[in-house]
Amino acid sequence: MRLTKTYLRSFNTKKLDTFPVEILKKVDRPTTFIKDFDVQRLDEREHGFNRAARGDFGPALKKERPRMPVKHPLSASLVNACGYLSQILQNKITTQRAPRTDDPVMMARHIKEAAYFLRADIVGICHLPPYAVYSHNTAGEAIELNHKYAIAIVIDQDFKTANAAVGNDWISSSMSYLAYSTSGFIAQILADYIRRLGYPAKAHHARNYEVVVPPILLWAGIGEMCRIGDIVLSPFLGPRFKAAIVTTDLPLAIDKPIDFGLQDFCAKCMQCARYCPSGSIPFDEKITHNGYEKWHNDVEKCTKERVGNKMGASCGVCISVCPWNKPYTPFHRFIQWTMRNIPFTRNFAVMGDELLGYDKPKLKDKWWFDLEDVEGRLRVSQFSGRRGDHKKK
Ligand code: SF4
Repeated sequence: MRLTKTYLRSFNTKKLDTFPVEILKKVDRPTTFIKDFDVQRLDEREHGFNRAARGDFGPALKKERPRMPVKHPLSASLVNACGYLSQILQNKITTQRAPRTDDPVMMARHIKEAAYFLRADIVGICHLPPYAVYSHNTAGEAIELNHKYAIAIVIDQDFKTANAAVGNDWISSSMSYLAYSTSGFIAQILADYIRRLGYPAKAHHARNYEVVVPPILLWAGIGEMCRIGDIVLSPFLGPRFKAAIVTTDLPLAIDKPIDFGLQDFCAKCMQCARYCPSGSIPFDEKITHNGYEKWHNDVEKCTKERVGNKMGASCGVCISVCPWNKPYTPFHRFIQWTMRNIPFTRNFAVMGDELLGYDKPKLKDKWWFDLEDVEGRLRVSQFSGRRGDHKKK
């Protein structure tokens, strides 16, 4: 009896999430219109970076692609860690299921608590949409994955760094791989744990994704699709995050998609399109592409900018300039509340950002070295100019 009481105490009703996700408006379907039956499963070989590696964007980019994530030493260290994560062998699924693991509400709460314990920033759960599974991996092997649920594990790329960076300077790739490696670490442990509880589970993270992340983030209530393209934007982190996914058959209560007014906001804002150095983010209306009605990013231009950047490692200008890229302070919480709930205030968000200086990098907070690995030797490198050198009015 005493043991049961202690066991039950872990399933309490105290507030769970780091951010107040409970205050967001929940909807039945994502705010991006998705014609489920028209969405074709994607082939991972057709991802922009893989096309660059194959030579689709020319020999110079083909040569540069393997260097891109490792030309800065910090990014190289994070990529190294990601590589080890993908080599972790899957433990066997325990034959006898752990007691009391068949209650979906209780287990969803427990799995989220476990993910937060492992230092996730946001966690959401949805049914795994069949179209979110890649058709083939980078080796050309067909992917079969029939798990029922997907757990999205979100990691912040760090506001202070995003705010100090120009966006396409030497820290950009490290910011991505910080979030890729940390979310991948959590996903691997969570999947291992679920298998020990007696259920199938698989971790998907940088270097071994078998699922397409954005539709999962939409259905799991992490955010809405934004103007940047196939990027989901969180009301608490903006576009400043990466996610790993665990797919499983463990019974889990699912979250609902959210609506915080982003479709209207992005229609008015266009800050990312103005600042994008490659011109890959559209000023135009949404179009329908592969069953999704969305703003369509020019993948070739975006990939060329990120892989071919000679004065930095990759690019994240759109992340840095987005008005949702803010710290979670009482002042910004209030501003974000107005942006979510009072549509006319969205017209002033960009103006407010420029008045408060958020359109410029806070270079005094810069903490990283502008180093570049050139044929095994580190040299101090020039970093890309001021943010907004390519700005369109
Ligand atoms: Fe949307 Fe503006 Fe952010 Fe671009 S910068 S994603 S338009 S909110």
